[in-house]
Amino acid sequence: MRIRLVRHATLIVDYAGHTILVDPMLDEAGARPPIQDSPNPRNNPLVPLPVSAEEVVRNVEVVLVTHTHSDHWDSTAAKLLPKNLPLFGQPEDEAKFRSQGFTAVTPISKAAIWDGINITRTGGQHGTGEIGRAMAPVSGFVLSAQGEPVLYVAGDTIWCSEVEEALRQFHPKVAILNAGAAQFLQGGPITMTADDVITVCRSAPDTQVVAVHMEAINHCLLTRSDLAFQAEAARVSSQVKIPDDGEWVEGNS
Ligand SMILES: [Zn+2]
Repeated sequence: MRIRLVRHATLIVDYAGHTILVDPMLDEAGARPPIQDSPNPRNNPLVPLPVSAEEVVRNVEVVLVTHTHSDHWDSTAAKLLPKNLPLFGQPEDEAKFRSQGFTAVTPISKAAIWDGINITRTGGQHGTGEIGRAMAPVSGFVLSAQGEPVLYVAGDTIWCSEVEEALRQFHPKVAILNAGAAQFLQGGPITMTADDVITVCRSAPDTQVVAVHMEAINHCLLTRSDLAFQAEAARVSSQVKIPDDGEWVEGNS
């Protein structure tokens, strides 16, 4: 297993001999307005892709989408990806994918298998209270296959019982966490804060955490250096990788 952070939550995962694209956001920098009612109002994405969008989608064999907020599934992705590419997502998003012309859509309510790879859907909470309810539903995915380490892609969620349960149930070798502590002008964070990432580390000390979802969307206020500083202070920094855009992370190390 190898994982490349493309940008934000967009990942290329080489897994069991296959190339998987997760949460493609492929718009050019500044293509969209700021998130409504959010701090730091700048056009999104804040930064360009590290390689061209065409190069990101080249060789992709299957796509996983945790939910269809525009920082996880955007119009450039919908335009560039071949319409017959196998696409897995949560049941609530099936109609959207089909309306965009995708023909090989598999909604995962619990689990699915694609070419020897088990894909189990996990839950999450995209914020608390009214905001959390408005942002729902969101999903994460656990990947497993013969001879491969277990990978948990938590999706857009804060630390919550669903994440705790996924860690306990699947013992992932690697967990991709969407940090950034995204927030609106009102209410609490809707993605993981540094404290949330640290809590994951302490709950699953054998899991390598890879923190992404930072510095690419205007309302993600936690930066990579803030997170690195806080992970260091909490003495979990050896457990937390914080890749740059375009950087590969080896899943077996
Ligand atoms: Zn997000």
